[in-house]
Amino acid sequence: MLPRQPTSPSASTGTINLDGGRDSPSPNLSRWERLFAPPMNDIVNNDNAVGTGFISPPLPSAPPWPLVGHTREVGFLQQAIRGHRVSHAYLFVGAPGSGKRSLAVAFAQTLNCQSATSDGHPRLTPCGACPSCHRITRGQHHDVLLLDIERQRELLAGSGRDADADKAARQRVISVATAHELREHISSRPYDARYKIAILGDADTMQDAAANSLLKTLEEPPRWAVIILLAANEGSVPATIRSRCQLISLRAVAREVIATALMQQGVAAAQAGLLAALAEGRPGLAIAAAGDAEAALAERNSALALLQSVIAPDALIADRFAIAARLATSYGSGPAGRASVNATLELWLMWWRDLLLVKSGHPELVTNPDQAAAMHTLAARLDISAIYARIIATQTTVGQLAAAVNPRLALESLVL
Ligand SMILES: [Zn+2]
Repeated sequence: MLPRQPTSPSASTGTINLDGGRDSPSPNLSRWERLFAPPMNDIVNNDNAVGTGFISPPLPSAPPWPLVGHTREVGFLQQAIRGHRVSHAYLFVGAPGSGKRSLAVAFAQTLNCQSATSDGHPRLTPCGACPSCHRITRGQHHDVLLLDIERQRELLAGSGRDADADKAARQRVISVATAHELREHISSRPYDARYKIAILGDADTMQDAAANSLLKTLEEPPRWAVIILLAANEGSVPATIRSRCQLISLRAVAREVIATALMQQGVAAAQAGLLAALAEGRPGLAIAAAGDAEAALAERNSALALLQSVIAPDALIADRFAIAARLATSYGSGPAGRASVNATLELWLMWWRDLLLVKSGHPELVTNPDQAAAMHTLAARLDISAIYARIIATQTTVGQLAAAVNPRLALESLVL
């Protein structure tokens, strides 16, 4: 038998509030203060909460997992392991770069780690050195399957058929074939591990057919199964799937924690602080940017310079039209161009939010601390409602682009 109490899917699932229900923004906050609710909310309070709905902080006796931050989430999972209450299905929710995948991989390593403990209890942290830990790190463990849209594309593109290569390039959602693959993986006994684990990224892109296939697996999971779904947007995961998973919503990681991790990787203190601020609590983003910190900061500087030329009091209408046209052309040039324009708009949004923080007397919270002088100058010239209007306009444009509104029209209305 596996070290787990037999539980029905409905009894083993629900929503966990790691903070005892602290986190919903207060209704008394002003409209701009509400804008600064953490980008990744804590696990929310609701009627499905398991047990008391309150989970204590990480186990003091357990060593941390190889992650940047997320100590409460790790503590919750460690408590489940120690209490033999590992669920059949989890839904990890967090923005791209928040660390969902790293958390899932470390959880899988802990569950299947082969190193013995001195007290005979289940391991609460992966050893990182046994064959199982190594194979999971490399994505080569027989009993731990990682799937996402990128993996779908690789599998299709690797088939050698031109038609499949075309199909791979167009894939934007988790396919039925992937849901079937997950089901097949989970249905057979573990080969040489305690748990059969499937980690499914991009779970919020599933359409009905894939979700229905996955639902069958979630309704009757084998006792050895642990299915971990990863999603950026909880609301896009079908309710029937969500209700069968234990929800863990990743919190934003403290700026200092991310900066320290970057410095441990050899990033200079000043750059580490700036990249950590720009990551807005998402360690994965900061770590990716630190791979080429100079380029990441140059990209940020370029986006902000473009914004300055749009909002300069003496900016000509023709120049603003030209900037909108350039961005629209880039947006229409393919996935890389779309990503670049989205990144530019996100940086603009962060800059406007920073300006609002400066204007409302909280300059210590800005994500672009090196821009303080320019922000103070502009803050003196704009009132709060004007800054707030720019934030709303930028958010609207981001939404319009995602909704396939004509990019040129959407961008022109933003910069004019
Ligand atoms: Zn191990």
